[in-house]
Amino acid sequence: MMSPQINAAEAAIRIKAQLERKFLSDRRRREATRNILWAMTDPLTGLHNRRYAMPRLGDMVAQAARDQTPLAVLALDLDRFKRVNDAHGHSAGDQVLIGVSERLRDALPANALFSRTGGEEFLAVIPLACADEALVVADTVREAVARTPLVVQGETGKVALDITVSVGVALMPAGATPASSPVELLLSRADRALLCAKSQGRNRIILAPQGLAA
Ligand code: GH3
Ligand code: MG
Ligand code: MG
Repeated sequence: MMSPQINAAEAAIRIKAQLERKFLSDRRRREATRNILWAMTDPLTGLHNRRYAMPRLGDMVAQAARDQTPLAVLALDLDRFKRVNDAHGHSAGDQVLIGVSERLRDALPANALFSRTGGEEFLAVIPLACADEALVVADTVREAVARTPLVVQGETGKVALDITVSVGVALMPAGATPASSPVELLLSRADRALLCAKSQGRNRIILAPQGLAA
């Protein structure tokens, strides 16, 4: 029969090994969670990225269909943003992107999905109570960017920049379904409305005509 001292020593070794395994598996789980968050986050602004936003948009379309409520898709693009980089440097451009992201996020309703989908392009998806709200929200957001100049550090000192954004709005009307209002169609209608906003002079919102095919 083994002595009680040896039993105790063996148990101690086993517990130590188990604790080490637990420590390693906890660390792996934390790393996996962090990697998932990083994969879905834009590092410059901290906003969700396209990879996160696209499946969520699908979920929101399905939810709006179930609730029989409207949904607004806003495609946003900074106006003449290349000029900021050209005139004040890339770092100033980055600061503008961060500042504009904050203004947009603060102006959007709390239940909106907001993401940076490209360089100076953003997507907002807003569950609505009624369709008229879409234009009010879009114009509030546009105005939040244009209202006051953004102060950033340029290559030769602080500069106050007048930044504006153009917005294309596509509406999924109440009672629509994912089949009648698929994600791709909503996105392409919002993008087309955004192009109209650009060609009509920028710093404006345009609502995509209803029922227009992609
Ligand atoms: P428009 O009003 O037609 O949208 O003009 P624009 O100048 O905004 O459009 P364009 O597509 O010509 O230029 C977009 C610029 O955005 C070009 C690119 O250098 C800049 N950009 C994209 N991503 C970043 C970024 O992460 N940081 C900085 N500083 N600039 C970026
Ligand atoms: Mg662009
Ligand atoms: Mg642009």
